Amino acid sequence: MAGVTFSRVRKEFAGFLAVEGLDLTIEEGEFVSLLGPSGCGKTTTLRMLAGLEFPTSGEIRIGDRLVNDVPPGQRDIAMVFQSYALYPHMTVGRNMEYPLKKRGLPKAERKAKVAKAADMLQLTELLDRKPSQLSGGQQQRVALGRALVRDPQVFLLDEPLSNLDAKLRGYMRAELVELHARLGRTMVYVTHDQLEAMTMSNRIAIMLAGDLQQFAPPQEVYRRPANRFVASFIGTPSMNLIDGQLSRSDAGWHFTSPGLTLPVPALRDSAKAGDACLGVRPEHVHLGHGDLQAKVQLVEQTGHENIVVLDVAGGNRLTGRTPSSQVPQMSEAINYRIDSDQVHVFGPGDTGARL
Ligand code: ATP
Repeated sequence: MAGVTFSRVRKEFAGFLAVEGLDLTIEEGEFVSLLGPSGCGKTTTLRMLAGLEFPTSGEIRIGDRLVNDVPPGQRDIAMVFQSYALYPHMTVGRNMEYPLKKRGLPKAERKAKVAKAADMLQLTELLDRKPSQLSGGQQQRVALGRALVRDPQVFLLDEPLSNLDAKLRGYMRAELVELHARLGRTMVYVTHDQLEAMTMSNRIAIMLAGDLQQFAPPQEVYRRPANRFVASFIGTPSMNLIDGQLSRSDAGWHFTSPGLTLPVPALRDSAKAGDACLGVRPEHVHLGHGDLQAKVQLVEQTGHENIVVLDVAGGNRLTGRTPSSQVPQMSEAINYRIDSDQVHVFGPGDTGARL
């Protein structure tokens, strides 16, 4: 087993910077997701670890071994692709056996390894079928099985669940978590789906435009987003972000925007008065009481709760949540309050840092 280290890794494609000075240490046995919007460089990062792309500069290590110039087949990794990449003319059993055959393992050993992986993934009954005779979820399990038989130091997974329907995705998420717990292997998982990253990972590396924004456990990313981008990217519905002004008095820091003045919790020493952005999660906008006033713009009833969009003073919009039993009326004037102990303050700009 081994961890993975990226040190100052940069990747340029014909003058285009896809990954910029990436420093990332993934511990042995950790499940780490690379998460970010399309084009942020997460697949390129995974492909460099796989040996399918080579870094322009910097160093990549698997365990203590520098792998920059090591071809994919000699890295002791296994990759599961979004497309599954199964061989259509081979049975499930042969698909799973193939990587072992290529390595020249004796037949009895190959059979035993395939049987063990098939048992783990509940594929035993399907070993004689062709991929075209399987559901999407089953094909995904075969792709995993083919990685599993090789017992690699590191598993690399590139959006492996994105071709499955929502229900199956939920099921496979749980399967992967269980598999990771059982194998205890290092897993690096690329996704643009925050729910997958939040529910499966020990830590999440959030990227934007080739740049690592935050690398932290899911709850920390949610509770203490490092900057405005992470704050807006993690959480559904998104965090409310309101532009305004930060000021300081003897009583402490205050945030002001038209129609809204709020004390804010202690900030970093580097915080300065001036332009800033207030972040409030919808669950910290409490409706039906409080001394602020708004008009209900939209109510979405999801079943177990309601998502309520409010028009507030100064042309701002705020999203709040209410329990399913509390359904505000459209256009209703409503009182609300913001839980000021739970707010976040960011510097100005799209990626303003947490203050
Ligand atoms: P997605 O979720 O859409 O797959 P991603 O975050 O995985 O996105 P990458 O595939 O890593 O993003 O791409 C990062 C950037 O590098 C993109 O702007 C992409 O267009 C560019 N890029 C990737 N591969 C190449 C290539 N072979 N040649 C030129 N540019 C590339």
